[in-house]
Amino acid sequence: MLILVMRSDAKVSEIGAVLQKVEQFGLKPHLTKENGKTIIGAVGESEELLAVDESFLRLPGVESALPTQQPFKLVSHEFKQEQTRIQVGDVEIGGQEIILMAGPCAVESEDQLFKTAEGVKEAGGKILRGGAFKPRTSPYSFQGLGKQGLELMAKARARFGLYLVTEVLTPNEVELVAGYTDILQIGARNMQNFSLLKEVGKSVKPVLLKRGMMSTLEELFMAAEYIAANGNSRIMLCERGIRTFEKYTRNTLDLSAVPLAKKFTHLPVIVDPSHAAGKRDLVPSLSRAAVAAGADGLIIEVHPEPEKALSDGSQSLTIEVFKELVQELKRIAEAVGRKIGD
Ligand code: PEP
Ligand code: MN
Repeated sequence: MLILVMRSDAKVSEIGAVLQKVEQFGLKPHLTKENGKTIIGAVGESEELLAVDESFLRLPGVESALPTQQPFKLVSHEFKQEQTRIQVGDVEIGGQEIILMAGPCAVESEDQLFKTAEGVKEAGGKILRGGAFKPRTSPYSFQGLGKQGLELMAKARARFGLYLVTEVLTPNEVELVAGYTDILQIGARNMQNFSLLKEVGKSVKPVLLKRGMMSTLEELFMAAEYIAANGNSRIMLCERGIRTFEKYTRNTLDLSAVPLAKKFTHLPVIVDPSHAAGKRDLVPSLSRAAVAAGADGLIIEVHPEPEKALSDGSQSLTIEVFKELVQELKRIAEAVGRKIGD
């Protein structure tokens, strides 16, 4: 990608002329604004030709034209220096506040979901998580309530004033799930499902993209690039643990993902300590560490009766433990110049 920075006093007609030239070269322009300057990311095969085109570089209003160094472009810090803030209703993700997303692994019943939602709200959580379509390792495990689960989520949203995040498994269900949820979750197992990434890229809903359990950070950033290249730049990256030789945890939480994702991209970073740990007694320490490391949010599994959960009970916190944890996290957030809740 060629990053074209327009001067802050560039006229609309000058920006238009640059866009025209970019398109003449068969390149796709992506626009963003930073510090009053329009920035145009020109992507395509003839980038190098444009970069050396004298008549182009002499166009009025162009301040600089630099090629990106990284394979990921639109999500890179090179393209956009400011951290992206994603607005979900009155909740801002990526700002000073650390956003807590919590709820059951799977939506099981109205009673289970509402009890959890009530607890999440009381604790200071802003976003209710819950799977309606579940990507289970075994085909014999509970697969989720499907559309009925989405309907229950929507009811909980209206009743408790929480926003929703739920997983979408297939490209042809994106429209359905987007009709109910506020944030589309792409699960670890689908991080490189490129047709799904393209489809959520066309959606207007923000995306929570989970890191594949065997994916490098560069692969995660490239997966995010697929979404951005298809038109949706409201993406949150989610570290949820990767597979290593360690057996005492379900996955190994890679906390370096937090500063690295912030170094290389402008996207908010969410940590999921539940799927990393696999065991509820580890979740509080991993959550505290994630807040200290600079995460913009946490997504935590909470269940009113974890021992009866149909999915991921062993890593789910009770509502009481979640509430206590939030109190501890508030203190850590403050210590690192952030806040949780008002
Ligand atoms: C989940 O959030 O319940 C889930 C299935 O997570 P992951 O895709 O990270 O395994
Ligand atoms: Mn789960």
